[in-house]
Amino acid sequence: MTDKVVIITGGSRGIGRATAVAAAERGYRVCIGYASNEAAARGTVAAIEASNGKAVAVKCDVGEESDILKLFKAADKFGTLGALVNNAGIVATTSRVDEMSAERIQRMMAVNVTGSMLCAREAVKRMSTRHGGMGGVIVNLSSVAAKLGSPNTYVDYAASKGAIDSFTIGLGYEVAGEGIRVAAIRPGLIDTDIHASGGEPDRAHRLAHMVPMKRIGHAEEIANAILWLMSEEASYVTSAILDVSGGR
Ligand code: NAP
Repeated sequence: MTDKVVIITGGSRGIGRATAVAAAERGYRVCIGYASNEAAARGTVAAIEASNGKAVAVKCDVGEESDILKLFKAADKFGTLGALVNNAGIVATTSRVDEMSAERIQRMMAVNVTGSMLCAREAVKRMSTRHGGMGGVIVNLSSVAAKLGSPNTYVDYAASKGAIDSFTIGLGYEVAGEGIRVAAIRPGLIDTDIHASGGEPDRAHRLAHMVPMKRIGHAEEIANAILWLMSEEASYVTSAILDVSGGR
C-alpha cells in the first residue's frame, strides 16, 4: 500500500479507468486526466470514492502543454507524486500513408509522443533525487502495433508507439540512478472504446482469431500489469517493455 499520488492520463475510460480503480485499491491517491468526456471522468472518480479511495479529475488534453502543466499542478496539491501512467493515446481512421494529411500525423505525434514526453518531463522534475524528489515510476502505454507496423490501417499510430518504446528505453537509462524506474506495456487487442474512435467498433473482436490465445484482452488485464510495474515487486525492472497481448 502507498499513500502517494499517481497521475494517469486518459483515466476516464478504458485502460486508464481500470488502472485508476486498481491503483486506488492499492492505496494510491489517483489524479486522472481526461480530454473531453467529463461524465466518464466523474464516473471514474465516483467509482473510486465509493470504495473509500481518493481521486480527482482534471481536464487535460495531452496535446496541449498548458493542460499538462495544469494537471501536474493539481496533482501537486493532492500529495507527493509517486507514479505517472502515460496512458492517453489516440488512433485515427483506417488509412494508407499516401492518404494521410499532415494535420492527422501531427496530431497523432502531438498526443501519443510529445504528450507522453512532456508528462514524463514534469514527473522527472518532481520524482528525481537529482531534483530533491523521492523517486518513482513511469509506465508508458505502447502497443504491439509498434512491432507489427499496422500497414493499411494506421502506420502513423504504430510509429508513434515505436517512439514510445525508444523513449522508454532512453529515459529509463537516463534516470536509473535517480530513483526512477521507467517501463512500458505493449497491449494487444483490448476491449475498449478506442476501436470505435478509429471507426471500427468491432475491430478487436474481428481480429481475435489472430491472437494466439484466441481472445481479446480486458482493460483490467493491462491495469494489473501496470500496477505490477508500479509496485516494489518490480523493483529491478527499468527500461523494459512488457507485451500483454495474449501472445500477439
Ligand atoms: P480509450 O478507451 O479510447 O480511452 C482513451 C482515454 O484517453 C480516455 O480517457 C480519453 O479521454 C483519453 N484521451 C483521448 N485523447 C486524449 C488527449 N488528447 N489527451 C488526454 N487524454 C485523451 O483508449 P484505451 O483503449 O483505453 O487506450 C489507452 C492506451 O492504451 C492508449 O495509449 C492506446 O494507444 C493504448 N493501447 C490500446 C489498445 C487497445 O486495444 N485498446 C491496444 C494497444 C495500446 P475522454 O474520455 O475525455 O475522451
